[in-house]
Amino acid sequence: MSYTARVLEQTIKRNPGEPEFHQALTEILTSLQPFVDGRPEYERWGILERLVEPERVVMFRVPWVDDEGRVQVNKGYRVQFNSAIGPYKGGLRFHPSVSLSIIKFLGFEQIFKNSLTGLPIGGGKGGSDFDPKGKSDREVMAFCQSFMTELQRHIGAANDVPAGDIGVGGREIGYMYGQYKRVSNRFEGVLTGKGLTYGGSLARTEATGYGLVYLVDEMLRCHGKSLEGKTVVVSGSGNVAIYATQKVQQLGGKVVALSDSNGYIYDEIGVDLNAVKEIKEINRGRISEYKNYRPGALYSEGKGIWGIKCDVALPCATQNELDETDAKALVSNGCFAVGEGANMPTTLEATSILLKNKVLFAPGKAANAGGVATSALEMSQNAMRIAWSFDEVDKKLKNIMENIYGNIAAAAREAGKEDNFVAGANIAGFRKVAEAMLLQGAV
Ligand code: NDP
Repeated sequence: MSYTARVLEQTIKRNPGEPEFHQALTEILTSLQPFVDGRPEYERWGILERLVEPERVVMFRVPWVDDEGRVQVNKGYRVQFNSAIGPYKGGLRFHPSVSLSIIKFLGFEQIFKNSLTGLPIGGGKGGSDFDPKGKSDREVMAFCQSFMTELQRHIGAANDVPAGDIGVGGREIGYMYGQYKRVSNRFEGVLTGKGLTYGGSLARTEATGYGLVYLVDEMLRCHGKSLEGKTVVVSGSGNVAIYATQKVQQLGGKVVALSDSNGYIYDEIGVDLNAVKEIKEINRGRISEYKNYRPGALYSEGKGIWGIKCDVALPCATQNELDETDAKALVSNGCFAVGEGANMPTTLEATSILLKNKVLFAPGKAANAGGVATSALEMSQNAMRIAWSFDEVDKKLKNIMENIYGNIAAAAREAGKEDNFVAGANIAGFRKVAEAMLLQGAV
């Protein structure tokens, strides 16, 4: 049995009941196999055994008081996965589905994603099973303050810098930053995605969605295609989906569908993004309300967004939202490119269908790395106590995304897997981390 296959089997056995973590391990280790097995020093130095085991996992109780005066208790997590190339960096997710397995899969992916950005950031992830939906601002603040009261012991500008993710946007980051500062008595860049009045970076809000589209656009350009005049389906209607839609529209593409966890809208003349922003960013409402703005649009409950005919699909909601049936529907409708804005939105089976059918497939760890890359730019600005203009940050972001595409395409080619960007991203991300681990000894 090969080194990678053995580590995969052992790790799955040692971490029972963690299906999302197993899925991420399987994808990454399987595609690394030819690369790793040709280099015996990795096995001698236990690189994979160390890589799959987080450096530290913190789990804690988060008690808070709701508007009825009742005490509620949630679970809090921070997984500090790997610091070989820099301080732990990765978002916080607040969603009822959050479990140790989900945080570990996200943290594991984050190691390679952060490495791909070319910036000095290690991998981490955290969150809670708290659901901000339907809570008052005061309840969200009470939760965020309690969460940070414990988390602040484990993070800092030089060792672990969390950011947002699902359910954690500007409001939550603000409440958590306020509490960090109060408890630690330090004003430092300990969180990214901060408000512009207290150390945030211009273009951070847009960065993941914009970055996704920059990378997809570059991938298309290198294959003689472009987004101009193309029909695009985007899932989700949160931070990533909204700014991906905006950039697609700026580049001349037409986004015809968006969704949330209840259902999806189809607007054949192209979605009205101002309406979506008002519903989601201002009113914190449901995507079904879009019909109030555009009576001609269709709203459907439940899944089904991938059945809509499109040239390019951008899954930007959550893990495993695009399965085998969806992949077949995309292929038979002529979709030629898929870019993952979300983390692991495509199941393993769906990915293999897309690759077999020569759909250009940009995996999340490369395609959505613009968010964390811009977070690292926010850290640099905080450390230097300066603020770059929107254009400066946006230019750096575009450059980073084009470099990422170049690197993953080259790594795929070198591995004899032309246009397999899953393999390319895993190899290119892994190489740098493994090299740093070798140089730092058995730690
Ligand atoms: P938001 O909370 O802003 O939006 C998430 C969107 O996805 C919402 O429309 C939400 O609908 C939908 N969604 C969430 N869970 C589900 C579900 N189980 N089924 C169907 N729809 C769901 O999060 P982001 O936009 O920040 O994150 C989206 C994805 O992008 C995540 O996978 C995240 O990890 C990834 N990502 C985010 C980055 C960032 O900078 N924000 C960086 C890199 C990756 P509803 O409102 O109904 O819950």
